[in-house]
Amino acid sequence: MKNIELPRKVLVGEDAVYEVDEVVAELDLQGKPLILCDEKTGEIAGETVAVEVNGEVTIAEDVTDKTLDELKEKVKRDNAQYVVGVGGGKILDASKIISFESKLPLISVPTSASHDGIASPQASLKRDRPLSVGVHCPLGVICDTKIIAKAPRRLLASGCADAISNYTAVLDWKLAHDEKGEYYGDYAAALSSMSAEIVMNKAQDIYDDISVLVEALISSGVAIGIAGSSRPCSGSEHMFSHTLDIICEEPALHGEQCGVGAIVMAYLHDAEWRRIRNALKKCKAPTNAKDLRIGEDLIVEALVKAHEVRERHTILRAGITEGKARQAAEESGVI
Ligand SMILES: [Zn+2]
Repeated sequence: MKNIELPRKVLVGEDAVYEVDEVVAELDLQGKPLILCDEKTGEIAGETVAVEVNGEVTIAEDVTDKTLDELKEKVKRDNAQYVVGVGGGKILDASKIISFESKLPLISVPTSASHDGIASPQASLKRDRPLSVGVHCPLGVICDTKIIAKAPRRLLASGCADAISNYTAVLDWKLAHDEKGEYYGDYAAALSSMSAEIVMNKAQDIYDDISVLVEALISSGVAIGIAGSSRPCSGSEHMFSHTLDIICEEPALHGEQCGVGAIVMAYLHDAEWRRIRNALKKCKAPTNAKDLRIGEDLIVEALVKAHEVRERHTILRAGITEGKARQAAEESGVI
């Protein structure tokens, strides 16, 4: 049985944030919302959202298990009927978890485009393990391109890299199908690959029209929804990134690490790793250990350990040796 989950309403465009009240009405959401943001995203968009839907913002600075519990309590106390997440990675992930666990619908209002979680049924809070958990996908997604275009360039570059990394995720998925008979969905795979292709092809001018990146990340989320798992957008390159999150004191951004991982994994797949590297460069995303500010030995260690982080058949299969990891990283210019 397949369980496909998709957003019902997606709005992408300038000043979209002023339409949030109409989206709420269209989705027939009534009652009080919990509008979650941090100090900064509150200023950028949260206050506007609050005016539009006649609510108040709730500021969450540091998202921990404790704050999540407190916020769920607040939802009950205030009798909130839906959740609006206004922010980047952490706030959107927290909003997804709160809405899921409180059984309330969610509207996602990203203030940046740093990863494909904008519209996906996954949340990846670094709780005990930095892996994603299954939640519901947002019922509505409102992407104000005027706001997102002003997000820090590093975050947007990370989003480009996350989209580009779909390239190796799909190769891994196909491999798992061929070698292990794992379910493989052509439609979800094609949609995911297309996001990577479009961002790679438009890499040179990607920041001239941010809606291209936004749509690529939304489509990635939709591919995840169709596949019913993160498979189409998360393979060995993501396992590499999750491992860096565990072993590094100061890991880089999720998308940044996945992009660099995609270079090495494409090399191992004997695929177009140079094309990936060039596209990442054009987007001003990291392409090597130095750009990530992560030591070369940690990169090699992450490549050796990545297969252990989750049970998912990829090009790493039962793991690669340190020699092989070092060679792949060196030859692909990552170290
Ligand atoms: Zn990702």
